Amino acid sequence: MLIPLVKPYIAPREEMMPAIENILYSGYIAEGEAVYKFEKEYGEFIGNPNVLAVQSGTAALHIALMLLNIGPGDEVISTPMTAEPTNTTIAITGAKVIWADIDPETGLLDPASVREKITERTKAIMLVHYAGMVCNMDEFNKISRETGIPVIEDTAHALGSKYNGKVVGSNSRFTCFSFQAIKQMTTVDGGAIAFADPNDIPSARKLRWFGLDKKISRLENDIKRAGYKYGMNNVTAAIGSVQLAHTPEILGKYISNGKYYDEALNGVPGVSLVPYYPNTEPSYWLYTMKVERREEFIKMMEANGITASPLHHRSDTHSVFAESKCPLPNMDKWYSQFVHIPCGWWVGDEEREKIISAVKKGW
Ligand SMILES: *Cc1c(COP(=O)(O)O)cnc(C)c1O
Repeated sequence: MLIPLVKPYIAPREEMMPAIENILYSGYIAEGEAVYKFEKEYGEFIGNPNVLAVQSGTAALHIALMLLNIGPGDEVISTPMTAEPTNTTIAITGAKVIWADIDPETGLLDPASVREKITERTKAIMLVHYAGMVCNMDEFNKISRETGIPVIEDTAHALGSKYNGKVVGSNSRFTCFSFQAIKQMTTVDGGAIAFADPNDIPSARKLRWFGLDKKISRLENDIKRAGYKYGMNNVTAAIGSVQLAHTPEILGKYISNGKYYDEALNGVPGVSLVPYYPNTEPSYWLYTMKVERREEFIKMMEANGITASPLHHRSDTHSVFAESKCPLPNMDKWYSQFVHIPCGWWVGDEEREKIISAVKKGW
């Protein structure tokens, strides 16, 4: 079997199974105390107590967009270099996705291009910390301050990445996390939304649960705005609490492998490393670099028992976004060169050396 690019980490059976069993037979498996406990723990982890747990990263993004009342006639500036849900979620609100180009050195959204795309219809800027690399936040914070346009950070790839020495999760108005199967921390499926402004929480809570207010009896409730069924349940949350206890250690493995590659692959012929923006530290969900003759590179790695792949399909070429189509020359350039190599917790010293020596031998 090839060394994979992604692999779910599940905490030891002796810890996980009793926690799940405990909740399953407790008589209360819907959203309850286990969820609120997980929210508190997750808030401590990201250094922001204003957290709601939800069903998925997609649900987190959708709630953020709904809180901004984004809909038909509005524009959201976004990146094509991401997984599909970032942009399909914008599409389901009825708003138009406006592509900004990326920085060809990093694959991340280019602040200068974003500035050019702002119109009076721009209601939000969607940032993706792709593969765990953090966007140029100094610049995006400036843009948001100057224009008043809120930023949504899609942090599905970047649990534990840092900006200004702090774990991402409190910088922008909304930060959306995913605990889907292949992310750095999985709860099987799940997500969270972190708020810079606690005043956003009451409305977000209602949107999470049909529009109902959980603090008031169901019989007394009056729905003013229809919401969704986006909450997390106690079973998922119990899994989350066990997983979270192992997350610092697991993230540490991604980061130590990533830093090792940054050194070991520097200057290797045919490889261009990605520079990281000032005041940012990636958590290396996927190790990202540019290579010459990518197809040959991928074949060579496979022959050595290693998966290498670009993994993501650029969003702007999907038919559903036909109306948004525009020239993105930097994206075109990046898209033919970037590749990911395995870097996660399952890559030990031996695998790491094997990967580096394969790349160094050339292709
Ligand atoms: C996984 C992912 C999401 C969505 O998360 P789900 O929990 O699967 O809904 C959103 N954005 C990006 C960039 C992702 O990779």
